Amino acid sequence: MQGAAANRKVNDLDSQNSLIIVRADLSLKPYSIGTRCSKRQDNYATVSYLNKVVLAIGAHPDDCELGCYATLAYHKSQGDSVHLLILSKGEAGGPSKKRIKESKEAAQLLGADSITVGDLKDRMITSDSQTIDLIQAGLEEVQPDRIYTHSPHDNHQDHRNAALATMTLYRHVDDIFLYESPSVSHEFTPRVFVNITRFFHVKIAALKLHETQNRKYYIRTEAIEGLAQYRAFQAGMLAKYNHSKAEAFDLAKLTLF
Ligand SMILES: [Zn+2]
Repeated sequence: MQGAAANRKVNDLDSQNSLIIVRADLSLKPYSIGTRCSKRQDNYATVSYLNKVVLAIGAHPDDCELGCYATLAYHKSQGDSVHLLILSKGEAGGPSKKRIKESKEAAQLLGADSITVGDLKDRMITSDSQTIDLIQAGLEEVQPDRIYTHSPHDNHQDHRNAALATMTLYRHVDDIFLYESPSVSHEFTPRVFVNITRFFHVKIAALKLHETQNRKYYIRTEAIEGLAQYRAFQAGMLAKYNHSKAEAFDLAKLTLF
């Protein structure tokens, strides 16, 4: 329901009882998180169940896979658009051409709608205008509703600075989720848990495509699986729902309509 008809409907309801508006709208879809209002209007009638546009940002070619790939696979299963922005070619961790190829293959496996690889220097990513401009260009290109990015509580300077640069664009996106990478510090506080039991295999398959990284301890399947199981246990998902794996996020911003 959109446009003039929708506004008429709201006005009719409003003249009777504003509570009815809330109930009427929620009755369309009881679980309303994941919906959003038209960006140009601001009343209940403009709620439209458009698919979300999601942008995942990683400092290096395998970061999104480690932090949020199963959650991205969940988004794809819901019909959402998923875009990837990789800030560097990861040349400090292997030949950049090969690393980009691995990222693109992983994106293809995920069914991502786009992947953009920036040219910031691996291990020297800053939080200043160069990084901000790259992320801003990504935002302008895909107009995301939600961003998944690094946590500022990360011991890797590239990850930390990618998070800080993203935060400067706080006003321009509805939701910002901060994912867990193997280098997060003790200050990383998970507040959001996503059941990824059905999508865990996508994360593992995508990580296996990063052959240049296969000697890194943190990319081993048992390490990834152990963390996912722990997060599901910590969230109570295992006991309550028998969900065995979760990805955990800290939350920088969540906008509900
Ligand atoms: Zn990284």
